[in-house]
Amino acid sequence: MTIQNNIREVLTTLPDGVRLVAVSKFHPVEALQEAYDAGQRIFGESKVQEMTAKHEQLPTDIEWHFIGHLQTNKVKYIAPYVRLIHGVDSYKLLLEINRQGQRAGRIIPCLLQLHVAQEETKFGFSPEECHQMLTEGEWRTLPYVSIRGLMGMASNTDDMAQVRQEFATLGKFFSQVKEEFFSGKSEFCELSMGMSDDYPIAIEEGSTLVRVGSRIFGSRGY
Ligand SMILES: *Cc1c(COP(=O)(O)O)cnc(C)c1O
Repeated sequence: MTIQNNIREVLTTLPDGVRLVAVSKFHPVEALQEAYDAGQRIFGESKVQEMTAKHEQLPTDIEWHFIGHLQTNKVKYIAPYVRLIHGVDSYKLLLEINRQGQRAGRIIPCLLQLHVAQEETKFGFSPEECHQMLTEGEWRTLPYVSIRGLMGMASNTDDMAQVRQEFATLGKFFSQVKEEFFSGKSEFCELSMGMSDDYPIAIEEGSTLVRVGSRIFGSRGY
């Protein structure tokens, strides 16, 4: 199977309103170029240095999405060009993104990462922490940050009922947050959930952005 065929195959399963983030982490620029030539424009990376190096080598109309855990001291490297930061998991990080957005002279679109999986190692706000942060309201004073929605990962398990339940929890929380804090704000519209093994379920539970890596580029060898 070629990258081009894999992309086509994934795209045929996406309903209108669901966009594909091709997760290209650890793959060489040649692989990304192949995906680009097949028409793919949104790429997801999880390491700041790697994304920045690829950004410098590849066409300028690519939308770079940062999907990994972002350290505050590295925001400055991606602030000038990143199109969406999926994994904002603290107010401190949001503050730094605002600061670097101001320096770069642009508003940076972000998603708040929620922890809904059972694994303890995953980053993210609990729904309670996220609700509290939004209620406190200081985020409203950050002009260089635009909160566009939520992101989450399901547990890494074969139990698809559990996976579905976690996505459903996230979907319900998304609707609740939209109504309570972003009503009338059309920019709050993205729910990033679903990976190679579970994205069809994520779509059924309301995903608007699926982050698919190995199904497109093959295994990453780890
Ligand atoms: C690596 C990664 C993906 C893609 O995983 P695949 O199983 O290869 O599709 C999606 N989201 C995040 C946050 C990742 O780190």
